[in-house]
Order: sequence, then C-alpha cells, then structure tokens
Amino acid sequence: MHKFDRDALEMARAVIEFSYDRLALEPPSLGGPRSPLELSELYGANITEDGIGWQEALHRFLEDYSRATITSDSPRYLAHVPVAPTKASSLFDLVVSASNICGANWTNGAGAIFIENEALAWLASLAGMPAGAGGTFVSGGSAGNLAGLVAAREEARRRGSLSDRGAILVSAEAHSSVRLAAKVMDIDIFEVAVDSRDKLSGAALRETFSTLTQQDRQRTFAVVATAGATNTGIVDDLVSVVDFCQFEALWLHVDAAYGGAGLLCEKSRPLFNGIERANSLVVDPHKWLFAPLDCAAIIYADPTAASGAFAQEASYLDDVNRLRELNPSSYAFHLSRRVRGLPFWFSLATHGTAAYRKAVAMTLEVTARAADEIRSRPYLGLAMEPNLSVLVFRRVDWSESDYIAWTRKLLVEQVGFVQPTTYRGERMMRLCIINPTTTIEMLCSIFDSMAPVSSSSGS
Ligand SMILES: *Cc1c(COP(=O)(O)O)cnc(C)c1O
Repeated sequence: MHKFDRDALEMARAVIEFSYDRLALEPPSLGGPRSPLELSELYGANITEDGIGWQEALHRFLEDYSRATITSDSPRYLAHVPVAPTKASSLFDLVVSASNICGANWTNGAGAIFIENEALAWLASLAGMPAGAGGTFVSGGSAGNLAGLVAAREEARRRGSLSDRGAILVSAEAHSSVRLAAKVMDIDIFEVAVDSRDKLSGAALRETFSTLTQQDRQRTFAVVATAGATNTGIVDDLVSVVDFCQFEALWLHVDAAYGGAGLLCEKSRPLFNGIERANSLVVDPHKWLFAPLDCAAIIYADPTAASGAFAQEASYLDDVNRLRELNPSSYAFHLSRRVRGLPFWFSLATHGTAAYRKAVAMTLEVTARAADEIRSRPYLGLAMEPNLSVLVFRRVDWSESDYIAWTRKLLVEQVGFVQPTTYRGERMMRLCIINPTTTIEMLCSIFDSMAPVSSSSGS
C-alpha cells in the first residue's frame, strides 16, 4: 500500500487523467442529488475485507457517486454561494495533497506557512488593516466566525472587563453561523434591528445597547457586522458601527466570508469603509476569490490577542510552542491542519492581483446587467438594488410551492441550481453570481423560464 509499485503507477495515471479531464470540462455539468436508498442500492458495500481494487472503486466514484452531487463550480450554480476555483488553484490542490505538509506549527510547515501568510497579508492589506495583522486559514466562514468571537472573549477576560457569561451584539441579518458560534460558546446574543436599507448601523447599536441593563452592558464584549450578507449581499454601515465599538470599547468582528472580494473593485470598495478598524475579519477565498473548498481566512488586527486563546499546552508541544506566535494552531480551534491557503496563494502568485480585480468586476457587471433584465420583465420584481453580486427578486403571483416546483424543474433540466429565500417576510428568488463564467445569457434563460406562458405550474 505504501510502495510506489507498478499498480500504484497505473493508479496514479488514472487518477491524474480523471483530474485532467474534470478540469478540462467547460462547463462541467450541473448534476444533482440521489436519495440514500438509491445510493445504497447501487453497489451495496464498497468497503470489504479483501478490497474491491482501485479500478472498481474509482469506477464507482466516477460513474455514480460523483454524479450524485451538484457541481458547485458550474456556471449554472447560482444558489447559496457558489465555488469557482481557478484552474491554477484546483491544480495546486493536487500538489498540496501530494505534499502532506502539516500546517499546525512553524517547525513542521515553515515554508508553506510563510507563503500562506503572504496571501493573508494581501487580504489584510485589501481591507486596510494594520501591517502586523495576521491569522490563519480555517475550513470556512463558520469556523472563522467562531475563532474571531473566541479571541474577542479571551481579550475581554484578559483585560478584566468580563467576569460573567458573555454576550454579543448581532444584527438579524448576520449569517446563521454567528448564532451557532454563540451557542457553542454558550454566550447570549442581543439582536439589533437593521435600518431601512437592511444595514446594521451605529445608531441602532446605540439604541439597543442603551436598553440593556448595566449588567448586560458589562458582559457584552463584541459586535458582529456583516460585509456582504449571504441573503442579500448588503454591507453593514461599518463606519458608524466601528465608531460605536470604539466608543464602548467593544471588539468588532467583521464577517466578510462572501463579500470580502468586493474590496477589490473601485465600484464596491466605498461600501467597506471602516473595515480597516475591525479587530477580526473573515474572508472565504473558497467563495468569491476563486479558491477550491475549503479555505477561509481569519485575520486579527493584533494577532497576539488571539494567540492566547487557542495555543494548546502539552509536554509534547513545548518545543514547537517556543514559536507560539508563528504557529497557525494559535489562531483558531485546530491543531493538525492542511495548508489549505496554498491553492489560493499559487493562483494569486500565478495570475497577479489585477486578474482577480478584473474577474470580480466582471461578476459585478453581469449582476448589474441581470438586474436590468429583471426590471425589464413585467412578471418579475427586483426587491432591492444589488449591493454586491446577490439578486433578490419576486415572481409576481408565485407562492412557496410555485418557487419549489420551478427550482426542481430547473435542476432536472440542468438549466440552473437556484434556491428561494425569504426577504422582509416574503418568499422570493435569490441568485448569487460569483463565477466569472456565468453569462448574462444563462441568467436570461432562467428569467425567461419564469414567464407566465412557459410556466408549467401544476396547480
Ligand atoms: C458562507 C458564509 C458563512 C459561512 O461560511 P462557510 O465557509 O460556509 O462556513 C459565514 N458568513 C457569511 C456572510 C457567509 O456568506
């Protein structure tokens, strides 16, 4: 199993050939899920006492299991937040797998961590954070939000300003993972209403904060703002939020998991003003920065504040902990880790940052054109001007069941993977455009399929 013998050589050729073919697909087909029953009836057990051989295992994956998934890098994937890795980043993921570098600490992963840090520093500089800002790459925005909030609580405890159960101020539009992080941390959430533009603002934070008891104010240690809400693409009013945080000496965590790429474009950059004063920031390169899953950056303005929260103590770690502040394990809840920032780094180094600026600008332009197309169709109604690259719109006269039936049909016909959402209490359609190969024609075919004449509603 561990020798690179003739069999391993043939297996390597087959695996690399598949990877080659998969990356050459333009575009890859959309695919779709199958039920657990259907999947269990395909082959029965794959894992047996004697093994089925790599040819058979690979065949089963390529022909069946991999096809029972939705291809998140298809340009027709417009639900949730798509994944749109560059060819360079996907290819380098193979290199990372073959290299088996442990990125937990500097002793093990120095060279790889050094270049991961270069990619983190670039993200920090886009946000205008201080020169010493840094952190690590984690599995996703959810893990990043948890890390930022744990670091914030640790800092409050260190300063002696938190002796009680903690609490945070969060808008109703924050990502669901913020609520989950609070649950995991066993802290409370004080929900703050968004304004008429769906933004969290300093004024609303002040108002909510003033209604709290003295004790509740005392145990509040952080504010979570969103720069690119998942549901709407809205960027909170960060300048007024950060002013409030500084006045009340609260940690500001900015969740830019999806929206962070908007920092790259002149058109969207002003929305992010104030982000440079965040204490912690999350950006997911596996979303709008064209890295493969799973890759999210958690960046601290002052990394030393975080390192005390996460560094693990054990006699067998004493030696590597001499370099505690260089160890990625000091900056989030993990120890062993894949150097998952490297595919992102390789692609950035290969193509240069201007290519990223251009690709993000292109998706913003397609979004703006799609908004015009929605406005031009009387059976559709745009819910808001897009802030970034999310479109929220209604199909006049449709209810929940119409949306569901139509989204299912769209996937069966391989026209698009889309999902409805709720905006201001109303069921609507939501599209998220981050793949530069998503064309306006693809989007128009989706809008056209909602037209009354071609609608095949079963009601
Ligand atoms: C996607 C998203 C998350 C969660 O990120 P994962 O990578 O899926 O864990 C958090 N916050 C926002 C704003 C997001 O869009």
